[in-house]
Amino acid sequence: MNKEIKKIGVLTSGGDAPGMNAAIRAVVRTGIYFGLDVFGIRRGFQGLIEEDIFQMDSRSVANIIQRGGTMLKTARCKEFYEYEGRKKAYEVLKKKGIDGLVIIGGDGSFRGAVNFSQEFDIPCIGIAGTIDKDIQGTDFTIGFDTAVNTAVEAIDKIRDTMEAHDRIFIIEVMGRDAGYIALHSGIATGAENILIPERKTDMNSIILSLQEKERRKKLVNLIVVAEGDDFGGANEVSKFVKENIPAAEVRVCILGHIQRGGAPSCMDRLIASRMGYQAVESLLKGRYNVFVGILNNKMNYIPLENAVKNKGKVSEEWLKIIKILAT
Ligand code: ADP
Repeated sequence: MNKEIKKIGVLTSGGDAPGMNAAIRAVVRTGIYFGLDVFGIRRGFQGLIEEDIFQMDSRSVANIIQRGGTMLKTARCKEFYEYEGRKKAYEVLKKKGIDGLVIIGGDGSFRGAVNFSQEFDIPCIGIAGTIDKDIQGTDFTIGFDTAVNTAVEAIDKIRDTMEAHDRIFIIEVMGRDAGYIALHSGIATGAENILIPERKTDMNSIILSLQEKERRKKLVNLIVVAEGDDFGGANEVSKFVKENIPAAEVRVCILGHIQRGGAPSCMDRLIASRMGYQAVESLLKGRYNVFVGILNNKMNYIPLENAVKNKGKVSEEWLKIIKILAT
């Protein structure tokens, strides 16, 4: 039997991602549309434990769909890893009369939600928000599209100066466990090499191709590296290239946190709005302890306990494209 839900809480947790605000807006407005009381919880699970909670109305989410970051702020919360911390969180929800929780975050936040919902009688629903796109069961996560477009814009600019000076540029993008930002931005900017955690980096063959370019007196080359690449990131790659090709002019650029910020792209606003709406509707229909994703352009509901990092597989087609188009 479905538990009747009248008051819901919404929080953002873990790494921030552009588009989280659009998701908060969708949750709040959908909740109000269905006659619910909606509470914003600041700073993720930390704010929940500390009772940093306020009631929201339609106006509290006005003029945020286009803003990066998260109006609810986000945090990482050590206490929530422990049963005692989660118990405190549950007591706060009980006290406030909140009977359903929407968690916008990545696979870590969803693992927290699994423990929470298994130990306590509180329906949880997740919305996949992470710039890394590293969650199985969804083709999109909120923030990825914006992050990739930010990286592409930056790399395009770097390419201009790289070509003007005949340099080798090594650009590090975010992606500790997954190379999606590197793959997408690398292909879209015509990078000659894309180094990702999902496959072993063969630096020796990259050196051979650079030496060939050196012989042709055209030592211009763009290498995009995911921060979690097994060779060790842009600085390590740069060191290796300089050791092997001393004449090369090598420059490193680590894009860093600019990839997390900025106005969300149209795509991110759209998927955040769809997911936010579906999360609330799903809670009310009694489909909870799942997270909302989009697979083959259809909403997909994945049990929270199956929220695992999308690791290890990059399609052969993509790898072929990189190789053929970069020659
Ligand atoms: P993300 O959601 O972006 O993957 P994290 O992995 O940092 O980010 O997780 C965010 C928060 O979720 C953590 O700080 C912690 O409070 C909670 N969390 C993550 N994993 C667990 C877990 N196994 N048990 C309880 N809480 C967890």
